[in-house]
Amino acid sequence: MNDTERARHPMQQNHESTCIDRRQMLATTVAAGAGALLWPGHGEANTVAEHPWIDAHSHIWTRDIEKFPLAKGQTLDDLSPPSFTTEELVEVARANGVGRVVLIQHGPYHGWDNSYVIHAARAFPKAFRVVAMVDHYSQSPGQQMRRMLDDRVTGFRIRSSERDRDWLGGNMGEMWRTAADTGQNICGLINPEFIAPLDAMCQKHPETPVVIDHFARIGMSGAIEGSQIDELCRLARHKRVTVKLSAFYALGRKEPPYLDLVPMIRRLLDAFGVERLMWASDSPYQLQGKNNYAASIALIRDRLDFISESDRDWLLRKTAERVFFFV
Ligand SMILES: [Zn+2]
Repeated sequence: MNDTERARHPMQQNHESTCIDRRQMLATTVAAGAGALLWPGHGEANTVAEHPWIDAHSHIWTRDIEKFPLAKGQTLDDLSPPSFTTEELVEVARANGVGRVVLIQHGPYHGWDNSYVIHAARAFPKAFRVVAMVDHYSQSPGQQMRRMLDDRVTGFRIRSSERDRDWLGGNMGEMWRTAADTGQNICGLINPEFIAPLDAMCQKHPETPVVIDHFARIGMSGAIEGSQIDELCRLARHKRVTVKLSAFYALGRKEPPYLDLVPMIRRLLDAFGVERLMWASDSPYQLQGKNNYAASIALIRDRLDFISESDRDWLLRKTAERVFFFV
C-alpha cells in the first residue's frame, strides 16, 4: 500500500522514555464508560487554556484491544509504535505548546470502527475533535454522519486508491451533500494524481467543506513537482477547500528543518491565504528519530520569516479552530 500511514516506527526508545516520564507525573482519570482514559498532568481544561496551538491531524491507538478491537487481520504485533494513546499524544503535544488535537481515524488498524477516537473525544471534549470514517458503499452514510456530529465528529476521511477506481463512487455524493449541510469536512488523503477527480467533486459540490491532507502528498517520492503544486493551488478557487501543512517527515528531503518545503508553503499561502491553511503533525508517524514533534511545529512557528505574528496564529490555531472546533 502506497501510504504514509503505513510507515513503520523504528524508534521504540522514544516510546519507552515517554512511559517512564509518565509514571512520574500526576494523572487524572476520566471514566467514560468502558476503557478509562488518562489525562496526564493538571487536567484537560488547564492544558487547553495554557497551550495555544492546535494539531489538526494525529492518530491514536491502544493495546486494549478487548475494548477497542482491531480491524480484521490486524494483531497487536502490527501496532507500530506499539501504542500511542491519548495520554502519550497529550504529553508530546503539550510539551510543544499544543493543547488541542484533531484525532484522525486510523483505517489500517481500526477499519470503519471509530469507537476509540470517539471515546477519546467524549472523555475530553475540550481538547479533541474527530475525523472519522464511514463506508461510502454503506446504506445512508449521511445519516451516520449526522449522528456522529453529537460526538464532535467534524470530519470524514476519504482516501484515493489506485486499486479502487471508484473511490468517489457509491454513496459518496450523499456524503458530500450531507457535509455541505452539517459543516462537517470531507478530508481527502490523496496522492497528487488524484487532485483532478477531487477537483471535479469540489466543482459539483461547491458548498462542501473539504480538507486536503499533507499537501496532497506532493513530494512523497522526494521530488516536489511544480506542476503538481499548480494543480493543488487551483483548488483554491473552491472557497471551502483548506489544506493541511503536515507530514513533513514523509515529503521532500524528509528531514528537519524541512526548509525544502518552504517554497511550496509560500505558493499555498499565495493561493489559499493563511485562513485556509493549517499545521498538523501526523503523529505518531512524525515521531521517528530526527523527525519529531518539535521539528514539525518549529517549521511553521519559527522558520517562516515572511509571515506575520497574526498569520502564524491562523496557521497554528485559528484555521483549525474554525474548520474543526465549530461544535
Ligand atoms: Zn495520518
